[in-house]
Amino acid sequence: MQGTRLVLTGRVLSTTGSPIPRARVDFWQADATGVYDNSGFRLRGHQYTDETGRYSLHTIVPGPYPGRTPHIHVKVRVPGKPVLTTQLFFPDDARNRTDPLYKPGLLLTVQNTNSGKEATFDFVLDLGK
Ligand code: FE
Repeated sequence: MQGTRLVLTGRVLSTTGSPIPRARVDFWQADATGVYDNSGFRLRGHQYTDETGRYSLHTIVPGPYPGRTPHIHVKVRVPGKPVLTTQLFFPDDARNRTDPLYKPGLLLTVQNTNSGKEATFDFVLDLGK
């Protein structure tokens, strides 16, 4: 599909730094023109972290839509625990400053590559006792 190729990788960790295997990581994003597919749900899907808590998503960079800077919606789910619902943002986008949902702590680390971009983000879950 149209858009800048994006490979997003990272880990799901506990607050003590332990990797969380088999966490369900659910991604949802707009296409490069800022449009969500609300009928076929293209660009929505989930995967499970591996034994070292890692996930790897091959996608495209989402486009902005009115009122919103580019972002990727994420839900991280571990059985029996509260769901983490959050969004990830791209650095160096002027629209971040005017998006009320933007948070600097949710910035991806992004590098340009020959084929597009590589980004990383680690989710940290407080699993309690
Ligand atoms: Fe959105």
